[in-house]
Amino acid sequence: MASLKEEISRRRTFAIISHPDAGKTTLTEKFLLYGGAIAQAGAVKGKKNSRAAVSDWMEIEKQRGISVTSSVMQFQYEGFCINILDTPGHQDFSEDTYRTLMAADSAVMVIDGSKGVEAQTRKLFKVCAMRHIPIFTFINKMDREARDTFELLDDIEKELGIATCPVNWPIGSGKAFKGVYDRAKKEVELFSDTKKGTAMGEVQMVPIDAPETEKLIGADAKKILADEIELLDGASAEFDQELVDKGQLSPVFFGSALTNFGVETFLKHFLKMTTSPLPRMSDKGEIDPMEEKDFSAFVFKIQANMNKAHRDRIAFMRICSGEFEAGMNVYHVQGGKEIRLSQPQQMMASERKMITKAYGGDIIGVFDPGIFSIGDTLTTSKEKFAYEGIPTFAPEHFARVRQVDTMKRKQFVKGINQIAQEGAIQIFQEYNTGMEEIIVGVVGVLQFDVLKYRLNNEYNVEIRLENLPYEYIRWIENEDVDMDHLSGTSDMKKIKDLKDRPLLLFAHEWSIRMTEERNKGLILSEFGRS
Ligand code: GDP
Repeated sequence: MASLKEEISRRRTFAIISHPDAGKTTLTEKFLLYGGAIAQAGAVKGKKNSRAAVSDWMEIEKQRGISVTSSVMQFQYEGFCINILDTPGHQDFSEDTYRTLMAADSAVMVIDGSKGVEAQTRKLFKVCAMRHIPIFTFINKMDREARDTFELLDDIEKELGIATCPVNWPIGSGKAFKGVYDRAKKEVELFSDTKKGTAMGEVQMVPIDAPETEKLIGADAKKILADEIELLDGASAEFDQELVDKGQLSPVFFGSALTNFGVETFLKHFLKMTTSPLPRMSDKGEIDPMEEKDFSAFVFKIQANMNKAHRDRIAFMRICSGEFEAGMNVYHVQGGKEIRLSQPQQMMASERKMITKAYGGDIIGVFDPGIFSIGDTLTTSKEKFAYEGIPTFAPEHFARVRQVDTMKRKQFVKGINQIAQEGAIQIFQEYNTGMEEIIVGVVGVLQFDVLKYRLNNEYNVEIRLENLPYEYIRWIENEDVDMDHLSGTSDMKKIKDLKDRPLLLFAHEWSIRMTEERNKGLILSEFGRS
């Protein structure tokens, strides 16, 4: 039997981030295929159906069984136990998407080779960068005409502010895509065509200097490759594992998830370069999974049960140290109580299954009778401690909430607070106007529908939402700011959160900098302390 240390050190827990359509699902599927967790591509989710513009939230709910299940997937590959955290990206982009990143030890960023860095990648990247976790880049869809490779790398460096280090280099793109050149091995890796997604394809490795290379890829391609490699060797950063670990250098890979080109190569390199479960900060210092034997975990996501008859929820937690056993008693630090963790579940490909054991690095979902909040710590350690909380992420859509029937104030307040506690929405109030009106902020507009529906369905309260023109929210880092004399822009609004902390809303991005300039020493932050 493997020891606790062995179990933990073979774990790799990463998030996969991208802009919709870059190929995240396809790549994930291929990983599962190589890991033997699924027998054929297309098994991860019936995504095509959910792709249709679903504005009706209930529709999404129906599919949620699927999307939730596939939000964390575990599979085995060459002795590694891999946990992939999916970051949903279409209609259901929400604060949960960001929170998921808090449970990962590294991130894989999938970029469409014909497009480069896109909006959602940028947003998700920022959160990964804040945590200084290793970030790996997979430039996908090389079987389509891609942008110039150097330009793509430049785009990543400039847009995201991270240095890049190509581990391999594409040989052509589109119909002329032959494979990749492995810079460390100085070998050309050629892929045979595969029937889309069903087979794994064959790989042929040939030294770049071998006489047959020219024959295999063609004289022109060989010449272009040689020129590009020369240019690259002179210009790009050298591979440096330490910088990768700190999230300052992103190893870059090229391939085509759809046709399996470069996927397994990527997986193999990635597993070598990425990290085993990382230590985490707590109020008694860093907790290292390699040192701490007791079980500890924190809650990063709460999934409400939409069935009115069952007000229960599933709390997703990231195990940070030790071993989990089904039905074990743990101490819930924030609740100050010992509790039994029941009905633990884990995801395997598209199935949800009950588990009996899990280890540091793993993600489990447990039954939550309504006691957990996002960021809560659970542990069996005698010396109690709490993990650092999860930041509050900036909503981008705001609305004023109006109650249709003002007699139901109590239910309304209860309901909206409960939903906010689950982390689906954030609630604010006018600053210093004495008005009790509530302003709600969400990361994805779908959450507005969720709020309306749930208040009505679960609390019997009808609301109307009045959209506000703000898109940016900033927390004020300064402790002693004089809010009344703060000089802002005309598109700025002062609000406060439930803990009476002041915040600012802006309609335009440039107003944020202007406000900082007008108020010397003012520090505005995109992330709120929990
Ligand atoms: P996601 O939204 O990032 O999860 O993207 P999907 O994996 O669903 O892919 C979006 C679309 O791009 C689908 O139609 C895929 O079949 C297609 N696709 C994914 N990877 C590739 C690739 O490497 N090459 C090509 N040509 N198409 C791809």
